[in-house]
Amino acid sequence: MDCPFCGNVEVKETRRFVCGDDLVYCVVNFEPLKPHHVLVIPRRHVQRLSELTPDEAHALNVLVDRLVDIISALHPNETPAIRVNHGRHKSQPHLHVHVLPSKGDLRDHISTFEGVPWRMRAEDDALTAMAEHLRAALADADIRREE
Ligand SMILES: [Zn+2]
Repeated sequence: MDCPFCGNVEVKETRRFVCGDDLVYCVVNFEPLKPHHVLVIPRRHVQRLSELTPDEAHALNVLVDRLVDIISALHPNETPAIRVNHGRHKSQPHLHVHVLPSKGDLRDHISTFEGVPWRMRAEDDALTAMAEHLRAALADADIRREE
């Protein structure tokens, strides 16, 4: 398998390697959007969060939290952004979590990038319809999974 996140990353990525243990590791992103833009990566090749073992998930979360604290201290006027790369913009099939300083939060990014109001309270009926739609989609997915 030719995966850039698998193998002996301490050797492959000596210059970018930050830290790691037997379950997860951290490297500086080779295309950093901002200073201290890092990736937290499980050692084992998995594509989705649900594929992590409980120990791997815990180790990943602990390392992300530690890096959030460190990046907060290094960039006191910014808020660390956390983005799990496991959606349609996935560049690598190996699960990884981006942690980087950001001047905005999720609401700022979506509002700016997608041109939607920064805050707009939806009507209760619209919220109910969204929840019903998601419940139906989850039920359909459960049925398909059992088939
Ligand atoms: Zn991999």
